[in-house]
Amino acid sequence: MSESPYSFRVTHADGRARRGVMTTAHGTVETPAFMPVGTQGAVKAITHRDLEGIGAAIILGNTYHLYLRPGDERIARLGGLHRFIGWPRPILTDSGGYQVFSLAARRRIDEQGAHFHSHLDGSTHLLTPETAANIQANLGSDIAMVFDECAAHPCDVRTANEAMQRTLRWAARARAQMWAIRANAVAGVTVSNPGQAQFGIVQGSVYPELREESATASVAIGFEAYAIGGLSVGEPTEVMYDIVSRTTRFLPEARPRYLMGTGTPQDLVESVARGIDLFDCVLPTRNARTGQLFTSEGRINIKNARYAEDPRPPDPDCACYTCRTFSRAYLRHLFMAGEISAASLNTLHNLYFYLDTMGRIRDAIAFGRFESFRLAFHQSLSRPAVDS
Ligand SMILES: [Zn+2]
Repeated sequence: MSESPYSFRVTHADGRARRGVMTTAHGTVETPAFMPVGTQGAVKAITHRDLEGIGAAIILGNTYHLYLRPGDERIARLGGLHRFIGWPRPILTDSGGYQVFSLAARRRIDEQGAHFHSHLDGSTHLLTPETAANIQANLGSDIAMVFDECAAHPCDVRTANEAMQRTLRWAARARAQMWAIRANAVAGVTVSNPGQAQFGIVQGSVYPELREESATASVAIGFEAYAIGGLSVGEPTEVMYDIVSRTTRFLPEARPRYLMGTGTPQDLVESVARGIDLFDCVLPTRNARTGQLFTSEGRINIKNARYAEDPRPPDPDCACYTCRTFSRAYLRHLFMAGEISAASLNTLHNLYFYLDTMGRIRDAIAFGRFESFRLAFHQSLSRPAVDS
């Protein structure tokens, strides 16, 4: 571990918001950072060239999808995920747990792991804390996540506790497997990225005492950093903010904190205010493909008839290629005509807006102005005369 290229350093603090630098084997990430979701080794509707162009520092890949297709061993034979997909910058892979719980057919969870049938061809699979670590080692991502059990929402405290305790037992096994992988002691695993870090995941649903226990016990196992999982699954926003606020208090100041699967632009700002450093979410990319654009004045639905002859850019305050070049009228036309470029141009804008927002957050923290930024951001988004 001493030669591991992974490190994190907090450079500025403003209230509970932090700015920092995370270093990985494939480069540095300025935090707070947003990670576009590249589910199957591709961020939908945008090229890696454009992603680099808008300043994406790190993307996320989905272990469940890449394991089933094209297969982690094939990707390892092709030199690892970075080389396979042509993305030279950092990559984080999830553990597959969330997809097993949300996508796989006929899944069964026991102490060993998750037995499930592929949503692609019905074939049977077993994902365990050990195999999830092996798969991510084959992929060679810069950050691997432990395999966790996500309790559904809503769930009672007893169910939430059982899932949280199992996640802790799985986390200890995943960490032991990671040490074996680092010692090259696991047959069949090709370590294409010896600098891979491993993050633990805090579970416990909406119950603060479970979150505290999960955070404290995860830190005792000892990971390079810690994520908060099991939020943004249908609980009220205020509950999510409260759980984030309480949970980060039990996570080490010197390690990044990653809020998984969140959220809206407002969620990002509010979570940074509660000590979060890393985010991922399908919202900007998925909504782009249905014609919803995030702007500095709120969301607009480009398919709305009111934009049919609107010559303005989607967001007059945005400097992205889409906003510098095209009108709302043209983007609406592309969407209504079913042109593929509608998805590309909308995705480019939405991701630019998210990444630009993170850049503004980092600047505000560095200058000690995060609170005034936060107020202005919410005021701007709550202006009237914008689509719902
Ligand atoms: Zn734009």
